[in-house]
Amino acid sequence: MRLHPQSVRIRLTIWYTIALALIVLAFAFAIYFVVRTSLLQQTDQQLNKDFATVARVVTDEPAEINELAQHGSINLFQIFEGNEVVAETDDWSRAGLEKAPSGKIGLPWSWEAPNGLPYRVKQATVTSIGHSYLIRIAEDEQTMRLALKSLTMILLFGIPVALALAVIGGYLLAGRVLGPIGAMAAKAGEITADRLAERLPVEDPHDEFGRLATVFNQTFARLEDSFERLRRFTADASHELRTPLTAIRSVGEVGLQQNIDATACREVIASMLEEADRLTKLVDSLLTLSRADASSVPIKRELTDLSALAAEVADCLQVLAEEKEQTVQIVTEGQVFAEIDTATLRQALINLVDNAVKYSPRMGHIRVVVRSPADAEAVIEVIDDGPGIPLEHQSRIFDRFYRVDKGRSRELGGTGLGLAICQWAVEVNGGRIELESEESRGTVFRVIIPKHHKQS
Ligand code: ADP
Repeated sequence: MRLHPQSVRIRLTIWYTIALALIVLAFAFAIYFVVRTSLLQQTDQQLNKDFATVARVVTDEPAEINELAQHGSINLFQIFEGNEVVAETDDWSRAGLEKAPSGKIGLPWSWEAPNGLPYRVKQATVTSIGHSYLIRIAEDEQTMRLALKSLTMILLFGIPVALALAVIGGYLLAGRVLGPIGAMAAKAGEITADRLAERLPVEDPHDEFGRLATVFNQTFARLEDSFERLRRFTADASHELRTPLTAIRSVGEVGLQQNIDATACREVIASMLEEADRLTKLVDSLLTLSRADASSVPIKRELTDLSALAAEVADCLQVLAEEKEQTVQIVTEGQVFAEIDTATLRQALINLVDNAVKYSPRMGHIRVVVRSPADAEAVIEVIDDGPGIPLEHQSRIFDRFYRVDKGRSRELGGTGLGLAICQWAVEVNGGRIELESEESRGTVFRVIIPKHHKQS
């Protein structure tokens, strides 16, 4: 057991002890006063009973007064008629009760006799056949005082012992309850960037600590996943960057080794430029994605006619399609407005149409359909009758650097980042992208974005 003044365990124990001490003290005072009041009431009841007996004798049988004082069962009383003592018990004078001061008529009061013994005293007047008598009567309070003293002793010794036991119990209990936190902290300290597969211990997943550990474990799982993706992305990016660099280097080396004429030299430079182009494209795509990850691409939403945007994109890529004798057809239902960042959505559509042109065979047909089927959504579909994407690749096709046929993609100038950029661009505009494709039967990429309500 290691004590630490700042530890939660000590703080818990201290607060627990203070709260318990206050409650126990309040209880002790309450018990003391309830018992005292009850004992006093009992004494006063006895006093009143004795007074009533004496008063009855005084009023009904005055001649019996002395007999009552000498041989009666009531030991402490004194009766005056005017200033003259009519009767008095032996114990009354023995206890020195004649010195007891006069209290309020009818109300008992406590008084300590010169011999040190406490008494409860009461006085009242009674009248009988024209005579007025003052009766003073007393009850020994010693038994009551002794009972109260015993109670005080029990409380005085009992409370500290109970508190000491509570402190020990509270400290042990707090240690037991906070145990999982210590284990979690120790384990969390061991989890570093290269040991992200480790998890915090979960004793009971349903209690507060268990839920906390589970939430931390989920965070660690997400971190592990992000680290893994980052690691894979860095490895893939390095590999992709190395390929054109190696190509430039080898083309350059071959060119230098051979005695070549001006035409061959131009060819070498042309291939080097082609690889440099590929490199630039790759670096541009990487930059776009890293800005996207850092959310630093400025997004300026404006009301845009998606049909016009689709037509503009198709126009842009018409030349490439013509080279492959392909047709690019725009099918629209008139103007479909959406509030989007035009630049990013244009980039997404360019990537989709560019892929359709790239992967469709010569004489292929590409259609860009803009429609608004549901009230709140606008749809842009890029449809081709190309080779399609096999089912087993479809779930990963939007992953960075994922390609069905790497060699063919590279040959066609692809970077493997087009669809990843496309997905980000659609999502940043509040939309989603879906793929529908069947091998050898073509592909449909469907971009769905929230429509603007005030459209025609
Ligand atoms: P790339 O630069 O390789 O085109 P993308 O991310 O744009 O990278 O596409 C990823 C892969 O998806 C491509 O390599 C290709 O295999 C496949 N693909 C994308 N669009 C189509 C399409 N319209 N038809 C067939 N395959 C496609």
